[in-house]
Amino acid sequence: MDVTGLRIDNIGSSDKSQPGERIKLKSKIIDWRTAPPDLASLQEIKDIFRSGGNIVFPTETVFGLGANALSDNACSKVFLTKKRPGDNPLIVHVSSFEMVERIAELDQELKEKLTMVWPGPLTVILKNIGVSKIATSGLDTVGIRMPLHRQARKMIEFAGIPIAAPSANMASRPSITRNSDALREFNGKVDAIILGDEPEFGLESTVIDPYSSPAKILRSGSYTAQELEPVFGKLELYSGNQEHPTTPGMKYRHYSPVKPLYLVENILEFKKVVSRSEDNVVPICSEEVGESLDRYFISLGSQYDLRSVARNLFAAFNAFDQSNYDSAFIHGFQEEGLGITIMNRIRKASSEL
Ligand code: AMP
Ligand code: MG
Repeated sequence: MDVTGLRIDNIGSSDKSQPGERIKLKSKIIDWRTAPPDLASLQEIKDIFRSGGNIVFPTETVFGLGANALSDNACSKVFLTKKRPGDNPLIVHVSSFEMVERIAELDQELKEKLTMVWPGPLTVILKNIGVSKIATSGLDTVGIRMPLHRQARKMIEFAGIPIAAPSANMASRPSITRNSDALREFNGKVDAIILGDEPEFGLESTVIDPYSSPAKILRSGSYTAQELEPVFGKLELYSGNQEHPTTPGMKYRHYSPVKPLYLVENILEFKKVVSRSEDNVVPICSEEVGESLDRYFISLGSQYDLRSVARNLFAAFNAFDQSNYDSAFIHGFQEEGLGITIMNRIRKASSEL
């Protein structure tokens, strides 16, 4: 057992497939937690991608489930493995502008703007000219992002192909931000899992449509509007048409633990509800709130450091699912800056009280 609590020798299959599903007994585990990417493993990853395989890998936002974005077959497998609805397109990850220009239309003005925010947790919707129609769910646009995560970028650069990768979680479940969760959820379901630097942001990329006027945020994410506006001008938060969403992913229930999670926005109210609750209920809260509760709690980090709350949120949901508790309460955070994305994810993850 090492410091992260992970054993990577002797990993058995965690496959829980239903009859008729594709069954893989074991995934290749590539461990970049303590050493930088080496040539042999980079070559192995390239071969897997080039032969149509799927790989789980860390990024600065959440873990991704990647495939060759140029291949219909490889992208289809991603949808199958995740049980993702076919009309929810995949984000395509690139390592250079040269790679963007091979797959999408990009004008000089937008390219200059993107150099100010890429690499980073921003996805832009462009006209598709090169990636699989399976990846884009048949749309004529493609969502593209250049990750900040060094290991992810190195992997894409070495493979030499754009990598389509949605978040590595089963559809509707919380995203994954810890090596241990990636291993538990995907060992046996994909060709390889890369263990590496865990996501420093912890929430998905911000998705924008840069060509609408004004430019629109289709999904709030790790980059806040305040951080993007100096580059893209005033951004409008698209609140969505659930029947005909511009970002198809908006219409699905998302990020939810298997067990019920209830949001009590007001902190005083939250404390009252928790104090009246049974022992099988766990509070998920900031460190400051937790310290005043006098019972076990799952910590989201300091309330005054929303970056730490973002980094811990999905790990907390996954820890709750793995625990013996039957339900959980979570409190609200101020909806400003990163708090907007945090509250968006909490609302989508929680059940009606
Ligand atoms: P995920 O990969 O699970 O983080 O989700 C990707 C998000 O990007 C979903 O909300 C998708 O609907 C959105 N997305 C991906 N490609 C497009 C596109 N071409 N147009 C609009 N939204 C997109
Ligand atoms: Mg997702």
